[in-house]
Amino acid sequence: MTISLILLAGGLSIRMKGETPKTFLEVKKKPLIQYSLDIFNSLSCFKEKVVVCKEKYTHYFSKEILIANPGKRRQDSLKNGLLALRSDVDLIMIHDGARPLLKKNDLLKLIEFGKDKPGSALAMPVKNSLKKVSSNNKIRESISRENLWEVYTPQLIQKDLLLKGFAFAEKHNLTVTDDLSLIEVLGYTPLLVPSSYPNIKLTDPSDLFLLEALL
Ligand code: C5P
Repeated sequence: MTISLILLAGGLSIRMKGETPKTFLEVKKKPLIQYSLDIFNSLSCFKEKVVVCKEKYTHYFSKEILIANPGKRRQDSLKNGLLALRSDVDLIMIHDGARPLLKKNDLLKLIEFGKDKPGSALAMPVKNSLKKVSSNNKIRESISRENLWEVYTPQLIQKDLLLKGFAFAEKHNLTVTDDLSLIEVLGYTPLLVPSSYPNIKLTDPSDLFLLEALL
């Protein structure tokens, strides 16, 4: 079984309202992306690692890390990352550089339980009550949280299925917000592996305080 890693850091971070992409903001003197990269670097199982980011941030990475240009949507960045890989592998691991709280034990668990599945991801059952609202924030519907999970990255996907998923999404003009969706549309049922820790993604400035405290 062979795995390569694609680390996504090519977003514009519009919701963070700053100049620097959120993945390169420094928290405790370390760029956010470096926290999860350190965890990936502590394992020797990745054949290649690709970071998707703008040229101006490539100096953060050592020479053995491959670089790919960002695309317009997250899935376009992932596609560019896939095209930058030089060797063929069985599995692709994809991670958001904006999720710095990844724990090594969770990563090992994902590989153990996900390596022979079509796709898998770390995730956690939803803890809060969920409401659907109308445009003025009035509640329209309460949604049962039974069997509802929040899906994180890393996500681990068989490379041949991921390529088929991309072909399908391009043919049907689909935009997805996570990678497993690319094989779900083919009819596969990926596995969710319980994460021991909330693996939140820096999305807007309020998350920064929380991440700073947790890191
Ligand atoms: O925008 P969102 O919060 O979904 O971004 C999740 C991750 O995907 C971030 O690490 C971001 O840098 C990356 N991304 C990307 N290319 C895009 C959009 C997002 O690499 N076009």
